[in-house]
Amino acid sequence: MKCKSLVLSVLFVSAWHVPAVAQADSLAAHYASFISETSLRSVLNVLAHDSLEGRETGMEGQRKAAAYIMAQFRSYGIQPVPDAEARGMLPNGYQQRFPLVVNRLGGLGINVDGTSFGFLTDYFYFQEHLQEALDVQEVMVLAPVSLGGARLGGSSKVVMLLDTQDPGTDIMELVGQASAALAKTGTRVLMVVQDKAQEMMHHYDAFLGRARMQLDKGQQENRTQGLQVVVITPQMAQAILDHGHLTLTKAYKTAVKKRVIVKVAVQFTYTPQHGQLSAENVLGYIEGSDKKGEVVAVTAHYDHVGVINGEVYNGADDDGSGTAAVLGMAQAFARAKAEGHGPRRSMLFMTVSGEEKGLLGSEWYTDHPVLPLDSTVADLNIDMIGRTDTVYGDSSHYVYVIGSKRISRQLGDLIEAENAKRTHLDLDYKFDAENDPNRFYYRSDHYNFAKHGVPIAFFFNGVHADYHGPHDEVGKIRFDLLHQRTLLVYYTAWMLANRDSRVAKDGPEGAR
Ligand SMILES: [Zn+2]
Repeated sequence: MKCKSLVLSVLFVSAWHVPAVAQADSLAAHYASFISETSLRSVLNVLAHDSLEGRETGMEGQRKAAAYIMAQFRSYGIQPVPDAEARGMLPNGYQQRFPLVVNRLGGLGINVDGTSFGFLTDYFYFQEHLQEALDVQEVMVLAPVSLGGARLGGSSKVVMLLDTQDPGTDIMELVGQASAALAKTGTRVLMVVQDKAQEMMHHYDAFLGRARMQLDKGQQENRTQGLQVVVITPQMAQAILDHGHLTLTKAYKTAVKKRVIVKVAVQFTYTPQHGQLSAENVLGYIEGSDKKGEVVAVTAHYDHVGVINGEVYNGADDDGSGTAAVLGMAQAFARAKAEGHGPRRSMLFMTVSGEEKGLLGSEWYTDHPVLPLDSTVADLNIDMIGRTDTVYGDSSHYVYVIGSKRISRQLGDLIEAENAKRTHLDLDYKFDAENDPNRFYYRSDHYNFAKHGVPIAFFFNGVHADYHGPHDEVGKIRFDLLHQRTLLVYYTAWMLANRDSRVAKDGPEGAR
């Protein structure tokens, strides 16, 4: 009897639930049909067009992209975030503006006995440690072999390290050794003479000349007091050695044996190359029904690296693909809501900027959340889902999933269940390994949510030859794969938004 009644009640409960679940499933599938390869393509054609100038953070192209994304949200019927002003810097209800400090290298000037030398023509460096003027009357000349010796005590403020002339030497290693050796000597500037300095400047030119950005958090940047390393050309070195009547070869031969001091006036000047900019995250918010106090975030970054050496880097895959996916999902959810089938939890479709400059937009958002982070049940982040990488062949249907079980195992399980039911992709967890040298878990916007304990999953196609290159174009996008991967995120979002309980923080990193 007992047993039977249990069976009966199980049957009764199942019978009661089947239609509701089936209806929810068919609704999810119905609204999925509004996301198509064609709609994804039409969005991506705009985002990855030359007229958006590579969508560099803080630049005109990024603002155009933001305006386009906002217009798309409006056209889907998505309303501005309620109480936008009260919720922080959301001037028009869609865009969250954040302040940036811009730094360029090149503030350090060098003058040898009245002759000025130039950054990226005569010398270069990767970091500006000497952020003040310095005048010296002598330069100490070292051969690499002297670095281990005892002759470094009482070193000059400026030291010139000669090229080894040994092609097997790794310059970074040499600089490391020299910095360690000079650490406590009072030396402020290490000039490393490099035969290949010209070549290296040419090679690093675009990188060294670019603006570096940080969030403007209102505090002074920490002044670093480390040793200033400057790589100089043999010509510039010779201009200094002339004052000691030395050639490079003679200086080298002498320096191997004894301390060489050249009496010469060298002036260092410092003119900071700071500026201020702002950039925007664009938010598409859809209010939930009975659980509207909780929110499911779906994110992608819409910024890319801009124009480099006159060439527009369109970033179709990185991350035009993710942005198109987020817009596609926003449109489907907005339509569902308009037809009376809106999500139970609220949805935040957020495209962020500043990603390529160091995940800045998502950092600003998670430091100034428009919707409370402890009510944010998950962040599904998409960064590059429109291509295949060099590991998988063109016929492969896969996606890398990263971090999906770290904070919430339930989230990871839900993705697998939806994939088994709907999209049948190969889910590859290779990059989720704790010791993966690529550290992708830390390299896109979900990480800023994860560090605040929000369950995350990151969807990614891996890197390819066009990654951060000028040929990441729409023509190379696999729209069938982009579509299928978008649907996996869409179905996961649908389930997260509509299930009875939010996913538990039951993963190994969930207890934070
Ligand atoms: Zn990216």
